[in-house]
Amino acid sequence: MNAKHGNLDISKKWVLKKSYYSGAETMDYITCENCGKLIKNIAVVENETGEIRHIGIDCAATLTNISPDAIGQAKKLINREIRFIKSLKDVKSIVIGGSIWFYKSIVTEWQHYWFLRCNHESYNKYMRYIPKDAVIINEKTEAIL
Ligand SMILES: [Zn+2]
Repeated sequence: MNAKHGNLDISKKWVLKKSYYSGAETMDYITCENCGKLIKNIAVVENETGEIRHIGIDCAATLTNISPDAIGQAKKLINREIRFIKSLKDVKSIVIGGSIWFYKSIVTEWQHYWFLRCNHESYNKYMRYIPKDAVIINEKTEAIL
């Protein structure tokens, strides 16, 4: 877990570009490009020469110029993403319009009691976690594309 023993050149300055949960991108584990471990909580780091690496959050925390605050923030975002993905299993219906609204009951049109909402980009990313029998309502077909 020590970056000194990893593949990343720690004489270069690495910055944290973004973080994500591997389940959001692929169903598979991703291998840390620093230590080679299988990872699910991923930090995307870039050095001053534009090299980009996907490494574990724990490895990112060992890179000297990435602050503990940035790591804390990245972990918070990942946890939020995991909670969102987990709650999608309760979805019974979806209304697609300017946004995507999720309901725990069957609806036939938009209702105010949605429990989750996301944008179209997130919907495309996470739709495989939505139960197959969920009812999908297109509120305004012209707004979808
Ligand atoms: Zn690692």
